[in-house]
Amino acid sequence: MPTSLAAVADDAATCTRCALAGGRTNVVFGMGDPTSDLMFIGEGPGAEEDKQGLPFVGRSGQLLDRLMAEELGLTRDRVYIANVVKCRPPNNRDPLPDEIAACRPYLEAQLELIAPKVVVTLGKFAGQLLLGSKEGITRLRGHSYPFATGVLVPTVHPAYVLRGGGEPMAQMRADLVRAKQALAEAGSTLVTTAPGTVR
Ligand code: SF4
Repeated sequence: MPTSLAAVADDAATCTRCALAGGRTNVVFGMGDPTSDLMFIGEGPGAEEDKQGLPFVGRSGQLLDRLMAEELGLTRDRVYIANVVKCRPPNNRDPLPDEIAACRPYLEAQLELIAPKVVVTLGKFAGQLLLGSKEGITRLRGHSYPFATGVLVPTVHPAYVLRGGGEPMAQMRADLVRAKQALAEAGSTLVTTAPGTVR
């Protein structure tokens, strides 16, 4: 088992395990509270994320921040946010299977060290990867699944919500409420102010 998140991040910072290394500006390892009960996992960095070296800092990230605040009462410094692949796929294309496989040890180390009670996957790739499923996101979402140290709640990607409007927005809100309930059931202080109460 890796000893610390910082050590894993240091390793990733110079990683050349897949071809995505050639086109990146920055490795986008992850950000937030490394002891959080809640972890969000997206697909891969976009242009703004690659530029800043931080996950979900473009328009999708702004929407994620907004819905996180409205549905969970949380700011991003209280959760941990990462992606399946840590380097930007060119032209925002989907990550390829060999790239996902090459990068997977970093995500697994993050999950092991953070040990979140609830994982929310954003979009098809993260949901399929962590659930070992080939189902589309519309079938996967809407449910909670037992997962490693707790519960996994798949939802749609915020970029899809930005494109799709009302229905995906309602789906994502409902899934975040599901995540909040899972946190409460796990006794997480992120959403409980006293035993049995959900903030
Ligand atoms: S995407 Fe992952 S495996 Fe590929 S170079 Fe970046 S850090 Fe390494």
